[in-house]
Amino acid sequence: MNNLVWFRRDLRISDNRALTAACNSGCGVNAVYVLTPQQWQQHDESAAKLAFWHACLQKLEADLATLGIGLRLLVAPSFSEVPRALLQLAKSIGATGLYFNNEYECNENARDDAVCATFATAGIKTRRCDDRVLLPPGSVLTGNSSYYTVFTPFLKAWLKKAAETDLAPLPAPKPPGAALVIEKPASAAWHCNSDWRSDLWPAGEAAAQQILQKFAAGRVGEYHQKRDFPGVNGTSLLSPYLAAGILSPRQCLAALTGGQKNWPAEGSGAWVWLSELVWRDFYAHVLVGFPRVSRGQPFKLQTKALHWNYDPEKLEKWQNGQTGFPIVDAAMRQLRQTGWMHNRLRMIAAMFLSKYLFVDWRLGEKFFMQNLLDGDLAANNGGWQWSASTGTDAVPYFRIFNPFSQSARFDPDGSFIRKFCPELAEVPTPALHDPKKLAAAVSSLKIDYPPLLVDPQKARQQVMTAFKAIGQAQ
Ligand SMILES: Cc1cc2nc3c(=O)[nH]c(=O)nc-3n(C[C@H](O)[C@H](O)[C@H](O)COP(=O)(O)OP(=O)(O)OC[C@H]3O[C@@H](n4cnc5c(N)ncnc54)[C@H](O)[C@@H]3O)c2cc1C
Repeated sequence: MNNLVWFRRDLRISDNRALTAACNSGCGVNAVYVLTPQQWQQHDESAAKLAFWHACLQKLEADLATLGIGLRLLVAPSFSEVPRALLQLAKSIGATGLYFNNEYECNENARDDAVCATFATAGIKTRRCDDRVLLPPGSVLTGNSSYYTVFTPFLKAWLKKAAETDLAPLPAPKPPGAALVIEKPASAAWHCNSDWRSDLWPAGEAAAQQILQKFAAGRVGEYHQKRDFPGVNGTSLLSPYLAAGILSPRQCLAALTGGQKNWPAEGSGAWVWLSELVWRDFYAHVLVGFPRVSRGQPFKLQTKALHWNYDPEKLEKWQNGQTGFPIVDAAMRQLRQTGWMHNRLRMIAAMFLSKYLFVDWRLGEKFFMQNLLDGDLAANNGGWQWSASTGTDAVPYFRIFNPFSQSARFDPDGSFIRKFCPELAEVPTPALHDPKKLAAAVSSLKIDYPPLLVDPQKARQQVMTAFKAIGQAQ
């Protein structure tokens, strides 16, 4: 008797519910990973992220070998070909069961339904586990059994539900077979030509655990005070690991609470960090509760009537960090150079594109996915719709971040701006946060830095008029 575990964005052996269930079933275990290159392209998975996944898969293969589990690699260009490819493999190794952890996006869910139907026809059982978030979509609902659209009541209900739920992480399973010697790793057949910043995000579960433990033992204590300052190492930097499932959110929770059921003190660094993990659950709920958001639709349907700009030149300047707004340019260059962007900057950059340039937020969402190492449909879409005022619990349309006030507040000494915009190294700090002084400094120092791409006052007026025209009275 043989079971097959299908790994996707859960590339770890500890606290992996599907793997543990398969290992505890008393049968032999085989593992499989399916490359779906065409689908990944359609989903705008970034080259850096694929390189990271590839390196993490290699680590996983070695970890699985210590459990005596061999990994096989399949190629099925798109999701529609996955059921047939998996069934063929299952039959060839005489598998009696297929185990995997759920993914909640529309296409992924439809693929998984198709796999289950195909396996059922062949008489092979399938077992789906909820593992990707702390509380799976559909488990935190309002009194009317509907999905929450506002975060704060969701958080309240989440805390209640979480207190009744076993969220303790599982240890790595016991080996179901003898350790394997891998002569030619299956993952080597995946020829991945891209790269990612491995100095910032080393691959694999052991590295992720180290980063988590270090953060939980130290920086989390000041998280509430430092998390908004991009020039400070104030956040966990764990998003690429959580997005690819190298780390589980239950492991993050356990690192915070020491495995106890009492929550951190309200307002503390640990409390605020916990609430970020709950935002992650919130957006996964939104994705499932309101599937239109993953089909390119705004959550607020009335915002469909907005006439966004489609100005390729402006879009390109934003993408290249050439807008003339130093904090926006530094943010976009951080994204391009590292595959990651600080949360405060994601809000500033997204609001700049969708409000100041009034460019369709979906173009920004796409560009982020194409460049982020942690690109995740639920969180990315949630963040973009929040910024563009089209989403659940979104920022009111008239609250528009002014990039200069934001940098004065969150990068007061300009160190972050200067790191990513080295041409501004000699510009006096006050000029980095003031358009008139900036123009004067750029001219007197003869610096090659672009003028403002838009007039902030006019941009603001345009947004207000557009939202008012569709009857958004807020
Ligand atoms: C426009 C926009 C796009 C975004 N796109 C993504 C994305 O594609 N992938 C992604 O993981 N996050 C995204 N975020 C959320 C957030 O910016 C990142 O999770 C965070 O910057 C990652 O850094 P960190 O790991 O140091 O986070 P920390 O501050 O240490 O937070 C811990 C973890 O909580 C989760 N988290 C934190 N904030 C949020 C949030 N607002 N929504 C959902 N989860 C959150 C992440 O998994 C993060 O790793 C986006 C936010 C905005 C405004």
